[in-house]
Amino acid sequence: MDKENLKKLVQDPRFISGIFNYCDRWCERCLFTARCLNFAMENEELDDPENHNLESEAFWEKIEKNLIGTIELLREIAEEQGIDLHSIDTAEIEQQENRSQEEAESHALSQSARRYSKMVDHWFKKNELLFEQRQRDMIQEMELGIEQARLINEAKNIIDATEVIRWYQHQMRIKIMRALQRDETDIEEDAIQNDSNGSAKVALIAMDRSIGAWGSLHELFPEQTDNILDILLHLDRLRKKTEATFPDARRFKRPGFDVLPLE
Ligand code: SF4
Repeated sequence: MDKENLKKLVQDPRFISGIFNYCDRWCERCLFTARCLNFAMENEELDDPENHNLESEAFWEKIEKNLIGTIELLREIAEEQGIDLHSIDTAEIEQQENRSQEEAESHALSQSARRYSKMVDHWFKKNELLFEQRQRDMIQEMELGIEQARLINEAKNIIDATEVIRWYQHQMRIKIMRALQRDETDIEEDAIQNDSNGSAKVALIAMDRSIGAWGSLHELFPEQTDNILDILLHLDRLRKKTEATFPDARRFKRPGFDVLPLE
């Protein structure tokens, strides 16, 4: 996309500013696709099948064009705001970011989220046969004409719970890491509406929904009670620790999802 088209999109009033910064990136389930700049840009790229083909020249030309358009637009914005991009010490910023990333990675919350992620992988790997067996049983029951509506509902619940768990499994650690990389100036400007709280809130929502999904799996697979309760306990502790570390995170208002802009 060239600079002018990009500019037109960015200035389009139908988009909610910054909505994609504090969402869960689950566009398939999002009610705000029509108001999201990120979605519009990604879908404009997806319209053309050539844009999926890494081996096509058109794909790389498109990437280059987008990059040039974005850089040009950034330069223009910087110029309008009187920012001299050459005076920014990028090496120092990079060093700071690396330090802050390392600190966030070694933080107890990130470690706990990493542990959760591994528990999830382990559980699904260990229970591959459980799902296969349940599927076979359900098909058999269906063929016998046993309570088809209940079976369909059960299958839907299994799929939904699994999708939710898998979707948020890694996202919560990424968001916790971002929340831990606090920008003190941002926090001083607004104690509630800052990026750290926003990121922590997205992580907390991921935990809430994952806890709900594990609860459903617990009901659907009662024979897995012990293993699922271990995971639930871990996740609940992680949620409590996250709330304690970011006590104002739940009060953060996510653009679009928690608060709509004035028309
Ligand atoms: S706001 Fe919705 S449409 Fe936009 S990136 Fe997030 S999930 Fe996708």
